[in-house]
Amino acid sequence: PVGEFEEKVAIVTGAASGIGKATVELLHERGARIVAVSRGANVETLAAPGIVPFVGDVTEEATSKGAIATAIREFGKPDIVVNNAGIIINKRVIDMTLDEWNNVLAVNATGAFLFSREAMKVMTPAKSGAIVNVGSYACFQAFPTIAAYAASKGALAQLTRALSLEAIGHGIRVNAVGSGDVATNILSASGDSEEALRQHGEKSPIRRAAEPREMAEVIAFLASPRASYMVGAVVMADGGMSVA
Ligand code: NAD
Repeated sequence: PVGEFEEKVAIVTGAASGIGKATVELLHERGARIVAVSRGANVETLAAPGIVPFVGDVTEEATSKGAIATAIREFGKPDIVVNNAGIIINKRVIDMTLDEWNNVLAVNATGAFLFSREAMKVMTPAKSGAIVNVGSYACFQAFPTIAAYAASKGALAQLTRALSLEAIGHGIRVNAVGSGDVATNILSASGDSEEALRQHGEKSPIRRAAEPREMAEVIAFLASPRASYMVGAVVMADGGMSVA
């Protein structure tokens, strides 16, 4: 819906590419003003009237504090936080270093904790807000080589549920989307590619990977008043992957 997010202020993490970038574009098209957070300098290419890029690592406390302060300074109190930044490592547990394990948990779970905590501090007095976490079918399912990722997304699903119970009494809704395969560069560090995700998506019941925009639509819905009765939900948008 055009203008749905008019007067709304959103923070999107992992905004430089993939699902995060599509979410920034969609919320912006519908009227939101956005602080777009990512660790790479290429998030700066998103700068536009109503979009302020913020370069930072979501695992550092200073990033969440800085991003929220930037939102307040530039646009006003944030109404929406999308915890989308995420990484994956494809390795068996027996081959995984402690740093690799810690890094996946830090970005995918702790990053969402930090941004949610800082957002709650300003949303609670305002008595309104929506937090949307970007999960995965790995919130619930597993296969070999994704132990760290599945552990982090399982943690994110449970953060979503527990925080939603703390938040709803203050008028703040916390939900998550369980994404299926989306053809992004998330696997590039493992030497894999968008093509690998496309091929994996072809094995899902819908027989294709998703476009980033298809996840952005679900994220926008959960962030909007149209989802006013949704609290602590992990909504699967995975082409049927989790039901087959
Ligand atoms: P992507 O790699 O295109 O986007 C991830 C973004 O997060 C990048 O812009 C990256 O710079 C940023 N980022 C990574 N670590 C960061 C950090 N420490 N601090 C700040 N920014 C950081 O990948 P994507 O597929 O768009 O992934 C977005 C989310 O979707 C992730 O949480 C991912 O787990 C989830 N997801 C993706 C898929 C898929 O198939 N692509 C499936 C399920 C879930």
